Amino acid sequence: MRRVCPCARLAQAVAISKDCPVYIIEPHIHMYSRTTDDYQAMYRAGIRVVVEPSFWLGANRRYAGTFFDYFHLLLTFEPVRAARYGIDHYCCISCNPKEAENRALVDEVAAGMDEYLEHPRCLGVGEIGLNNITDNEVYAFRKQLLMAEERQMPILVHLPHFDKARGAQITVDLIRAEGLTQRRIEIDHNTEDTMPITRRTDCFTGLTVYPYSKLNPERVSHIVREYGAERMIVNGSADWGVSDPLSLPKTIEFLKQDGHEERTLQMLFHDNAYEFYGQSPKWKPNYNIAPIPVSQYQRQP
Ligand SMILES: [Zn+2]
Repeated sequence: MRRVCPCARLAQAVAISKDCPVYIIEPHIHMYSRTTDDYQAMYRAGIRVVVEPSFWLGANRRYAGTFFDYFHLLLTFEPVRAARYGIDHYCCISCNPKEAENRALVDEVAAGMDEYLEHPRCLGVGEIGLNNITDNEVYAFRKQLLMAEERQMPILVHLPHFDKARGAQITVDLIRAEGLTQRRIEIDHNTEDTMPITRRTDCFTGLTVYPYSKLNPERVSHIVREYGAERMIVNGSADWGVSDPLSLPKTIEFLKQDGHEERTLQMLFHDNAYEFYGQSPKWKPNYNIAPIPVSQYQRQP
């Protein structure tokens, strides 16, 4: 597997020296809803590459066109904004489970998705999955799973917030029934209840660290001890709810104190995400983007 730097030491956190910086991949974050201060803080904390899956914006979209404008923004504006702060930005696009109840709209969005899936910044399909576990959600989920499989693209799957174990079981059953390439799928937002189900597949499994809901660093530590770091990916999944764009550096610190080996940390916060997204030929993360001085892009007063 390709390494960023032969002497990289993730466990020593952030930058060891100018010649040997340490990099973190944030494999699931919604920068659309984050500020420039967040980008700057992420850069300072050692995050150099982010992947932004499309998500529910807070109100259901009523037109296919508003999905397409959102995909366009994620794929064109956001990478430029991120690069100003030294961060390489990629995307996954999809119709989110929260917007799956309108089948006609799902069909219309799916029918127009190709040009966005083909964009050089789009690595995969996601996040897709189940929310309230309805028939319409299963319809949209299956449809997009098959679209991704057909195009051999990585898939980011979101587990429901409630009834998680049942949602995980239905998700895994669907993946198996369709005969999908499990190594190209990451099942995200796992908890202690879903791990026994999702770890029985070859899918990558995601652990999301949130300040108040989802997992905290202590629970991540226990789960990693129990299941190992193979195929495990940690993310912060920050959006415009109560979330933290610095979840990953904070979790690294906790896991270090809690006795996890450096090799484990490197797998959880870099190598596994690299391997997962590396299944897309478009994945060419650049860790050496120099932040641009604000005077070069912001109008003078
Ligand atoms: Zn998300």
